[in-house]
Amino acid sequence: MNITFRNKKIIIFDLDGTIVKLSADWMSLRDILITRYREHYNEDCKVERISTCLNEVVQKKDEVILQDFFDIIRKFELKNIKNTQIIGETIFFINNKELFEVKKEAKFAILSLNTRSTIIRALELANITKKIDYIVGREDVRRWKPAPDGLIKIQKHFKIKKEEMIYFGDLKNDILTGKNAEIKSYYIDDLIKYVINPKSKIKKN
Ligand SMILES: [Mg+2]
Repeated sequence: MNITFRNKKIIIFDLDGTIVKLSADWMSLRDILITRYREHYNEDCKVERISTCLNEVVQKKDEVILQDFFDIIRKFELKNIKNTQIIGETIFFINNKELFEVKKEAKFAILSLNTRSTIIRALELANITKKIDYIVGREDVRRWKPAPDGLIKIQKHFKIKKEEMIYFGDLKNDILTGKNAEIKSYYIDDLIKYVINPKSKIKKN
């Protein structure tokens, strides 16, 4: 798989598992939200993922409860934020983009299912706050990955073409998000291999 940055104006990253590794027990959070949903509505929400439960709140057009859920998620994520680990290769790439044939004017953005506070705090811990131009977090869309909305929001913000964007994430859900938005997406492992050995991965034209 060849990655090329020649025509890329915006390079987008997922957060958890891509730039940092957050320390949170996601299954416990999911259980807390399921319980809260039951308390509010006296029925069960879909339990596959946190997003599927939130989807049901969105469908009910219940913005008050949605904000309450965001608060719960935010507090849960921030509880162990100090234990966040940094993914060195991704950080190195962001800090040294010119070593990887990335255009000087190219910018970085984040698309994550984590709350905005968590993203901002994690970027501070990784010392790359100033390198990131735009953030789309949990609160910023109402249809979450793998829906294309987050990537489209970023596209609209920068007023660029889809082929000028590239997205990196650690999960199949991220790759699927790229597919749904018709924006090239790659696993972060591909970028990490390229960072470790730049000559091996770049496409020369
Ligand atoms: Mg991730």
